[in-house]
Amino acid sequence: MASTAATWKLLVVDDAPEVHDVTRLALRTMSYKGRGLEILSAYSGAEAEGVLAGRNDIAIVLLDVVMETDDAGLRLVRYIREDLKNTFVRIILRTGQPGQAPEERVIVDYDINDYKSKTELTSQKLFTATLTALRAYEDIMALEQHRKGLRQIIQSTDSLFKADSLQQFSTGVLLQLGTFLGVGANGILCVQRPGSGTPDIFVLAASESYGAGPHAPLSTVRLNDEVAAAIRTAFEGRASVFGTDFTVLYLGDDRSHEVVAYLHCPPPSDPLELNLVQLFCDKIAVGFANQYLYEQLVQANETLERKVQERTAALEQANQDLERLATTDALTGARNRRAFFDLAGREVARVARTDSPLCAVMLDIDHFKTINDTHGHAAGDVVLREVVARVIGEIRPVDILGRLGGEEFAILLPDTTPAGALLVAERLRETFAGTPIDANGTSIAITASFGVAALGNEEDLDALLDRADTALYQAKNGGRNQVAEAE
Ligand code: GH3
Ligand code: MG
Ligand code: MG
Repeated sequence: MASTAATWKLLVVDDAPEVHDVTRLALRTMSYKGRGLEILSAYSGAEAEGVLAGRNDIAIVLLDVVMETDDAGLRLVRYIREDLKNTFVRIILRTGQPGQAPEERVIVDYDINDYKSKTELTSQKLFTATLTALRAYEDIMALEQHRKGLRQIIQSTDSLFKADSLQQFSTGVLLQLGTFLGVGANGILCVQRPGSGTPDIFVLAASESYGAGPHAPLSTVRLNDEVAAAIRTAFEGRASVFGTDFTVLYLGDDRSHEVVAYLHCPPPSDPLELNLVQLFCDKIAVGFANQYLYEQLVQANETLERKVQERTAALEQANQDLERLATTDALTGARNRRAFFDLAGREVARVARTDSPLCAVMLDIDHFKTINDTHGHAAGDVVLREVVARVIGEIRPVDILGRLGGEEFAILLPDTTPAGALLVAERLRETFAGTPIDANGTSIAITASFGVAALGNEEDLDALLDRADTALYQAKNGGRNQVAEAE
């Protein structure tokens, strides 16, 4: 950042050659802050324009007013300040012609720093005026450097803070630090995380030459011992460490977000520059804290979302289980009484508004009590389950089967005429009577009786089932193992 020019540059602009000689003689031994003075010469305003346009390191211009024209010097001043926009160079006007004083306006408007008559400029006075001007120039340049540095900090941190991941941010920080210190992005950014026993240091980002990917332990990175030790020292001491040819910067605002940047370049020698680097580091540290917080927030959100999904799925499953338990007969898997009346009731209400036929079949196993008594209750259960399985095998998916109680079942047959319902009932009767049921090795012969009723005008489910039940009663009375139709 700092100009490393070895000498201060002073430009003498005067059409009189002897003025150049005298000036050289007067200032030949001059040095300021260990840097000597280099005197450049121009013999006209035009020539001076050329010199000033070609370089930006001139500290002082000692300027004659009357040269190729009466106001050549004043024109040059205007050229420097307005055209070149050089506000840094110190300008000392010297004029040999009394009465040829420059317009006051020029002095005020164009930041002329001193005004001397040539006779006034004895060797000692010239020396003093030059030294004063150099001091002012140095201050101005220091301010300018500071201003540029601050602007760079603001610009680079602005773009850095737009990074939306820690990884991106880290890579950006390394790049910006490299640029800031003028070495390109040659370095490594490290973070310290608690390990087993001693905390471990990991790479956050590294220049390509180090061949270290993110998250690599520092111990696996090719670094000389001095540098590795300096990085550890920076973490331990929570402060930057400067070597002869390396810079280790500590970027941290609290223990949880500590980052250390190693850069392969000498540390800034200028205290002002060092200050700026430290300021930059402080800003970056805030950025790291923000990035960490942001990543934690994202992670917390993801965890929360996953948990909500898990809970929702579990709740849905529980609801399904509950629904099944509430509507299903546990022994046979058939709809229970409540679910049957619920669903069948809705079906009857729907059909009532159309003229499609609908029938109900009541089914009751004959002498089931005897089956229980003879073969045991468990065998009775097997029979009940097998009855349901056989019924389901014989009816359509749209038909509604329910266990109304004990060994009594109801089947609602939508879009079915009485003739069709009688056929279904007859087929079921044959299914039971034709094949005995195997209950744990015991063959149990069963029969069942059936009552069939068709839905009448303005009839509800209860009335329909009542009539089917009456028909069933007739079938029982008629000798069982038969189908009876309601009137
Ligand atoms: P009917 O031919 O007149 O219908 O005679 P039934 O013996 O089949 O009729 P009843 O109503 O007298 O007897 C029904 C029997 O069904 C009585 C009861 O113990 C038995 N039962 C009811 N629910 C179950 C059950 O879940 N499992 C078993 N194994 N038996 C049951
Ligand atoms: Mg019975
Ligand atoms: Mg019964």
